[in-house]
Amino acid sequence: MAFTIRNLKIRDQILLVTLPPLFALLFAVGLFFYAYWSATNTERAATQTRESVIRGESFLRHNTEASMAIRAYIFSEKKNAVASYDKAMTEGRADLIALRDLESDSPQQLKFVLQIQAEFDELQKEWALPLIDRVREGEKIDIPSNLADGQDRMTIIRSQVLKLQEEDERNSEDKLLTAEKLIRRTLIVGVGLAALLGGLLVFLTGLVTRQIVMPVRLLIRAAEEVAQGDLSPLLPPPVQNEFGVLSRSFSEMTTALRREREEIASLNRFSEAVTQSTSEIEVYDLLLHSLKERFQPRQVIILQLKHSQSYLEVVASLVPLPEEVAAWPVIEERHDCKAVRTGRPMVVNDVRGESLCPSKFVLPSEGSYYCGPLIASGIIIGSVRIEAAKGLWTPERQRLLESYLNGAASALSNLRLLDRMKQQANIDVLTGLYNRRFLEDYARKIFAIAERREQPAGVIMLDLDHFKSFNDVYGHEVGDRILRQFAKTVTGAMRETNLTARYGGEEFVVILPDTSTKSCALVAERIRQAVSSMVVSSNTDKPLPQLTVSIGVASFPSNGHTLDEVIQASDRALYESKRMGRNRVTAAAVSESAAR
Ligand code: GH3
Ligand code: MG
Ligand code: MG
Repeated sequence: MAFTIRNLKIRDQILLVTLPPLFALLFAVGLFFYAYWSATNTERAATQTRESVIRGESFLRHNTEASMAIRAYIFSEKKNAVASYDKAMTEGRADLIALRDLESDSPQQLKFVLQIQAEFDELQKEWALPLIDRVREGEKIDIPSNLADGQDRMTIIRSQVLKLQEEDERNSEDKLLTAEKLIRRTLIVGVGLAALLGGLLVFLTGLVTRQIVMPVRLLIRAAEEVAQGDLSPLLPPPVQNEFGVLSRSFSEMTTALRREREEIASLNRFSEAVTQSTSEIEVYDLLLHSLKERFQPRQVIILQLKHSQSYLEVVASLVPLPEEVAAWPVIEERHDCKAVRTGRPMVVNDVRGESLCPSKFVLPSEGSYYCGPLIASGIIIGSVRIEAAKGLWTPERQRLLESYLNGAASALSNLRLLDRMKQQANIDVLTGLYNRRFLEDYARKIFAIAERREQPAGVIMLDLDHFKSFNDVYGHEVGDRILRQFAKTVTGAMRETNLTARYGGEEFVVILPDTSTKSCALVAERIRQAVSSMVVSSNTDKPLPQLTVSIGVASFPSNGHTLDEVIQASDRALYESKRMGRNRVTAAAVSESAAR
């Protein structure tokens, strides 16, 4: 990523703003010290120049005094003139030494002082001292010529000193000018730099503030949007600093929330769909479809715990099972399945590391394996096996999967409950046979099929003989027991394809698909015989008298074209049996309208 200010870490962005003023401050302090140093230097130079001038004048005075002393000595030959000369000499030398020190900073001037000193010493040595010696020895001195020589040399020295002073003053002036120039330049540079840095600072502060404030604002707005339920908020650009980290985390968070929301939505869709399912197959299909969509499994097998509760049977699979197993009901031992045995899922994220439950199927050799129970209202009704990618089963995914399984299990349990309720509504509680309502529904279907296929359909109507007296003599309870026993005897005397129903009180009806009146009469006769040898235990020591039944048979199309017509015909035949003395079978006579 290209280097830009917005990619800088917040700390670096703040440093970027704070460092320039810091440097500016340091620079200003530096400039101040430099100016101060320069002023002090100029001041010292000025003082030195002043002292140098004073010393120069002092030297000239002592020089003059020395010259005067010599002159006085030549004229007066007094010794105190020599002492004055010595004193002036000593002080003059001291002046020169002081001058040497004062000019030590300037080599040019120092050289000049040394030259003056040399000439002064030479004047003393070659002129003053020999002259004093000559006077002392009594020699007559030609005053004008001797003095003129010394005077000339002294004048030279004086002019040299004056030149030195001039030079000093000029130097001092130069230094002052330079210092002034320097201070002015320093001031200009200082102010210029300060203005430049100030401008830069304003620019950088604005830039950095925008870089910091903009992502913060965007993040706040994104947070507000998320709080209002919008999970795709506008986020700050993916920069490489703390805001980038924050933005990435925020984006990951909203992605996770979005995924969770989608998962919840699809789970809700699934729950709604399974609740509206009308068959177990539909629930299995929905479960397979949803699991495929959510977890991309390689295989899903749904097993149902069969009524006997002793084995599991495969009821659906995502990928068709191999032909050799699919051809038969595929069953598993109940106790081989850990999920069914413990009621808890068996989760293996890498099958290579763990052994799985024994199974009739080829178990996966790689990837993950999940086998969870289907539990409805605390009862295990089956299990679901899933083969998927390695490491798929994180705790979150397991929870999601279990929500699907629970939804499917409760839908299955509701369907079963509904089935049972429907069945109960169709079944006579006392005998366990179908009731009249169911019989009529069923019989209508059978008659419709018979009509379409042009096949017969028979009706047998049965009525127990003198049943009222059984009730009266032995009580209602024995009467009920007789009815239960009678129901068993009737169903036991026929094929399962026939349907027996309690038509009302002690009247029963049997519907026989694809059976003519004649065949019905044969079946009815078998029933009659079975009833006449039926034994019902009594509640007293006395055995019950033998029970008998009167039967009337009729069929479509011989005795009627509609169910009602055929039932009426069989009822009439039954009445005929009663009339003829009971315990007999009467076949309906072929009616005229039916015969047509
Ligand atoms: P028959 O048919 O031979 O002419 O004589 P019956 O005594 O069977 O005559 P009826 O059909 O009049 O009597 C039917 C009796 O069945 C009347 C009623 O008390 C009895 N009954 C009807 N339903 C039940 C029941 O659910 N339990 C018991 N115990 N008795 C019932
Ligand atoms: Mg009756
Ligand atoms: Mg009866």
